[in-house]
Parts: sequence; structure tokens; C-alpha cells
Amino acid sequence: MFAFPIIGFWAVLAQRKIQEIMQIVKLRNNSSIPEWIAGMLTHICDFARISNPIIVIDQSDSIAANAKFIFPLGFVLRLTKKAVEGLNPDELETLLAHEIFHIKRHSLPFAILNFLSEWTIFGSGFLNLAQNSKEMEYDADRFAVEWLGSKGKGKDILVGLLDKVSIVNSIGGLAYSKGAMNFIRPEHNPGSQSIHKFIDQLFFGDIILSYLHPTINDRIAMIEGR
Ligand SMILES: [Zn+2]
Repeated sequence: MFAFPIIGFWAVLAQRKIQEIMQIVKLRNNSSIPEWIAGMLTHICDFARISNPIIVIDQSDSIAANAKFIFPLGFVLRLTKKAVEGLNPDELETLLAHEIFHIKRHSLPFAILNFLSEWTIFGSGFLNLAQNSKEMEYDADRFAVEWLGSKGKGKDILVGLLDKVSIVNSIGGLAYSKGAMNFIRPEHNPGSQSIHKFIDQLFFGDIILSYLHPTINDRIAMIEGR
């Protein structure tokens, strides 16, 4: 009796996954990565002792980056055009270092947990609540500081970067990424539309509500050892 709805759900999920893969392939084909950014990435990956991920630049209107394991492509580092244009080279390098550490340590376990929660109908990211995403952010920040130190540069560059990135909405001491908040804030989705959008995101979205960032102030305090 329950087989048909589940198969329907899986079909939609599979279709969304294929769309995501196609989108990355399209971005990869359409945007060439400036040589200086590719060089920077290789240096950081050597330092982290991992192989280079796929890197793509999208047109999003915020300064941000994210790292994700996408089957069957592998690790994908997504950088916004605004980050390339709005950050100085030191800040961009620091942002890449933070994401590279996620690829080294977090992206694969995260993808596996997410796969299990999505395909068993718990909803996108549900099992990731078992992970300490706040600590994951601190770890990636510590690695970025270590990378800066190896180049003879100070942690003030990371602090400066955190002032510019788009992770700003905080609730109860934790911060959501900017995009993650858009669909649950009523001013963006008035009326009954928001619940549909919420369910859609919960089951099929790539926005993961269970992944909480520490606030920028908490991150700066950690970096500065306060
Ligand atoms: Zn992070």
C-alpha cells in the first residue's frame, strides 16, 4: 500500500539530484576558473594533503562558498562570483582554506548522513543533527588560521573575512546561512505558500536547516582565543 507514494517520492528526489548534477556540470563548462584561483586552490590542497576538488563559480548575489560531496561527481567547491569580486586575494584564500578543511574532514560523512536521511524520508539533513556542526565550523576556522600562519599571515585576515561573508541570521546563539533563512521568514513567503516551500525544502532542498553555524561573534572570539 505504501509502496506507490514512496516510489513517487524517490522519483522526485532522484530527479532533483540529477538536476543538481547537471547544474554543476553546466557551471563547470560555462565558467572558466581564473588561473590565480586554481593555483591558490592547489597550494591549499597540497597543504591539507587532499586532491583538488571540482571548483565552480556561480552567479549568486552574496559573498559565500560551500563544499559538498555530490555523487558521482565527487567533492565540489562552489564559490560565488561576488566572493571572487568582493574579497581581496588574502580573504579569498582564507575562504578557500576553510572550505578545503570541510572537504578533508566533513563533506563525505555529511553526504552519507544526508543520503540516509533523505532516502528514508526523514527529510534533508535530519541525521546531521547528530553531528556537532558548530564544532565543525570552529575546526575549519582553525585550519584557515593554520594556513595563514604557514604563509606568515595573521588571523586578522579571517576575522576581516567573517565580517564580509553572508552568514548573518542568528537565532538563540546559532546562525543560519543567509539562504537557509529565506524560505521560513514570513516576509519572503507570505501565506500558505511558506508551508509548501518549507516541506519542499525539508524533503528535496539542498538547504540544510540542521547545519547550524556559530554566530560570527562566537567565531571571532574562538579565533582570537577569547
Ligand atoms: Zn564552514
